Amino acid sequence: MLKKNIPYGRQNITQADIDAVVETLQHPYLTQGPKIDEFEQAFAEYVGAKYAVAVANGTAALHLCTLALDVNENSKVITTPITFAASANCVRYCGGNVTFADIDPNTALINIDAVRNLLEASPKGTYQGIVPVDFAGYPVNLEELRILADEYGLWIIEDACHAPGGFFEDSKGVKQYCGNGQYADLAIFSFHPVKHIACGEGGMITTNDKALYEKLLVLRTHGITKNPELLHENHGGWYYEMQTLGYNYRIPDVLCALGLSQLQRADEGIARRRAIAKRYDEAFADANIKLLPPPQDAGHAYHLYIIKANNRKELYNHLRTQGIYAQIHYIPVHALPYYKELYGAISMPQAEGYYSQCISLPMYPTLTDEEQEFVIEQVLKVAK
Ligand SMILES: *Cc1c(COP(=O)(O)O)cnc(C)c1O
Repeated sequence: MLKKNIPYGRQNITQADIDAVVETLQHPYLTQGPKIDEFEQAFAEYVGAKYAVAVANGTAALHLCTLALDVNENSKVITTPITFAASANCVRYCGGNVTFADIDPNTALINIDAVRNLLEASPKGTYQGIVPVDFAGYPVNLEELRILADEYGLWIIEDACHAPGGFFEDSKGVKQYCGNGQYADLAIFSFHPVKHIACGEGGMITTNDKALYEKLLVLRTHGITKNPELLHENHGGWYYEMQTLGYNYRIPDVLCALGLSQLQRADEGIARRRAIAKRYDEAFADANIKLLPPPQDAGHAYHLYIIKANNRKELYNHLRTQGIYAQIHYIPVHALPYYKELYGAISMPQAEGYYSQCISLPMYPTLTDEEQEFVIEQVLKVAK
């Protein structure tokens, strides 16, 4: 038996990453330095967006997006119950209200028909926006969602934390990369260690909208600007104005050096994730194990590899005895005590059905073939 613990996800730090960080530590800038711009430009290019704003973490990225889109007490925003709580919390930070739309059980993504039903059931203008999530790395079809959003005048914040490098094919067969800003107004990413690119803590917002981009830059640093074109007065070289209530959501220069170095290996990492997924798919196909989502989709970025089991708890507990730290993604957000107290008990049958069976197996580029075979063996022993 393998002695080593196998988590569901983990970062991969190479000597090149370490060298990049050490070199940056020797520069005069620890926080606001040139690596931030470099990381932003490289990341924007990687996802195919015009602009990128690097921030302290993915949650700060979401908060800045809802601030930039003027979410307030009168706002109602739609999101999915199968996501990390931050996708919904960013609306609450600005005092807005969240409405959950149930998932498509075949993909665990927000069900666009469920969104349409919500929109049709209320007068136009009831909802301001929607936060779809490229859950597990499987991209939402934003072309379809955009058509619906335009019909009702909604903005879209794409939560692409699971999917840098993921893509879907649009109706013309063009690959639309997650966060490319083609359909969503804003997209956000996280650089938490379990995500594709690790900074420790870190996040990114991408957009093709210049006005939103400039607003985000100001909100990221206290609402302060020194841009001479935007100043109301000018007392001299030192002069700045705080024109709106912003935050300190900056990411340090040294973490951007790490992110930039990690980004060089992003394609390699995705290729390895897809190979791992393919092996799991093959191993589970004959054993009647339920996969999610069922198709091997070329654009899937595989942040998570999820199966469904009727005896999920037994499987989870068994894997732990073997040192395999599988995880559950996610407890439905509407069922978390905070949201239950706020909105009362809501029924989301598909999300709840999914939650009762889902389990995320180890999925990260440095998972060895030997470790993966061990995981497969242990899953096949118990899963029903
Ligand atoms: C990780 C994650 C976030 C938050 O990112 P942090 O960097 O941890 O703040 C938001 N949404 C989703 C879907 C995530 O997976």
